[in-house]
Amino acid sequence: RARALRGAPVPLLPRTMASAAIPTWEKVYINGQWSRPSSANLFDVIDSNTGKVCARVPAAGVADVDKAVAAAREAFVSWAEKSLDERKAVLQKVLETWQGKKAQAAEWLCKELGCTATFAKTVQVNMVDFHLGTSLKLVDMVKFEEKMAFGSLVVREPIGVVGCITPWNYPLNQIAAKVFPAMLVGCTIVLKPSEVTPVCAYLLAEAVHEAGVPPGVFNMLMGDGPNCGEAVAAHPGVDMVSFTGSTRAGRRISEVGAQTLKVVRTELGGKSAALLLEDADLPKLVPKFMQTLMNNSGQSCNALSRMLVPKTRYDEAVELAKKVAEKTVVSFAQDEKASIGPLSSQAQWEKVQGYIQTGIKEGARLVTGGSGKPDGLSDGFFVKPTVFADVDNKMTIAQEEIFGPVLSIIPYTTEEEAVRIANDTVYGLNNAVGSASPEKAVAVARKLRSGMVMINDTSVMPDAPFGGYKQSGNAREWGLMGLEEYLVTKTLAGKPPSKL
Ligand code: NAD
Repeated sequence: RARALRGAPVPLLPRTMASAAIPTWEKVYINGQWSRPSSANLFDVIDSNTGKVCARVPAAGVADVDKAVAAAREAFVSWAEKSLDERKAVLQKVLETWQGKKAQAAEWLCKELGCTATFAKTVQVNMVDFHLGTSLKLVDMVKFEEKMAFGSLVVREPIGVVGCITPWNYPLNQIAAKVFPAMLVGCTIVLKPSEVTPVCAYLLAEAVHEAGVPPGVFNMLMGDGPNCGEAVAAHPGVDMVSFTGSTRAGRRISEVGAQTLKVVRTELGGKSAALLLEDADLPKLVPKFMQTLMNNSGQSCNALSRMLVPKTRYDEAVELAKKVAEKTVVSFAQDEKASIGPLSSQAQWEKVQGYIQTGIKEGARLVTGGSGKPDGLSDGFFVKPTVFADVDNKMTIAQEEIFGPVLSIIPYTTEEEAVRIANDTVYGLNNAVGSASPEKAVAVARKLRSGMVMINDTSVMPDAPFGGYKQSGNAREWGLMGLEEYLVTKTLAGKPPSKL
């Protein structure tokens, strides 16, 4: 099963084993039609609350990638030649059709991802509106043409066919942040969503289909990474790959994409720090910063999984963090009292357990939580919200992305030391600074090597770029930059008219 063996060849069930009682999506979406992929194999989709199979989806491969890329290439010229207003009208319709799918998508997210119903309804499904709605407005600000001082006309054109490969943690967010900006500026799409959370992607593809997007403009395959995703990344007919996922897979996709020198944009892992300065309002900020870690059961790329605290205020911060973790209610996704649900998969659960045990072995102090499942939750992939104190930044739990509700608290003496510790990681996605003085916080934020820094807050806005430094990847999504990612620049030299 793909979940247990992510990154390795996947054992597949023959189609004959598919039970009628289990909802099964057997088709992929190519050239405006739902069609059966070349292989008859199916993947199990697991309900994270119970560990049981809740759906089945197909495993597309190289032959299907070829068909989807051919359809996207064929559709590219006419889609790119449409006026911006025409493309906007089509995508506005997608936004409207999506509204009718949201309730169903939220229900499936509770199962396939395991996030709480509240989080699914208020955050996850609305990420489509968040990105598509914002892009529909911001696209008017894109400078598709610019006359230069010495007469050249610089024209910015859609890059072509974009292969979008997306993960399971905020599955609709990542699809919407890539696919819709790319389509708006005139690109055509081959999407390979995560096989761990496929059903919400099917619902979004249905919305695209029902909205009347022209055939070939949007194509969706379903399959695993090594067989299907890699074929998308390698395909000579794909002009650009936009990938969100693990640093491991991002490295592989960059290698494979390099064979055709295509543009490869990556949004990868993180090990972000909440840096609390001496004068920070700890009772307010410790819970706020911990929220980004606890949300989605710790499975957020920008989770503030390290907390750097001055030694003078260390005990206070540890006590507050303990309280937050102990107040975090772990339960079934559909339980209204749940603050967080299970992790997404057995593989994810085992990984997080391994990190908790490593933390203890390497000498961190377990303040609360720890290994094993919370009482009464033995079937699904539930973990205990965990806080480690006295963590040295060299420890494994401070260096590697755990992707679970596990906080590492690290003491520091001087601000310079705190900045050095925050930057001492291969990642550079996000950080936060807490201080009573916003000026001081901004001065520290400027020294942090990450694509984003949150100042006394945790909100991220759809009109500002989202992306990382270092091994957190090279993409910038969201906002105007998230649209411009999908453009290439052409210079018309000589004596072009001022506007074409
Ligand atoms: P993953 O890398 O295992 O999978 C992501 C996608 O890539 C899936 O669709 C998968 O099938 C595909 N894939 C896997 N191996 C591949 C290969 N060799 N070739 C082509 N495709 C391949 O990641 P995941 O476990 O689904 O997601 C969690 C990771 O995503 C975390 O590391 C998290 O930090 C990261 N993430 C980053 C951001 C960001 O914006 N920086 C956002 C969300 C998640």
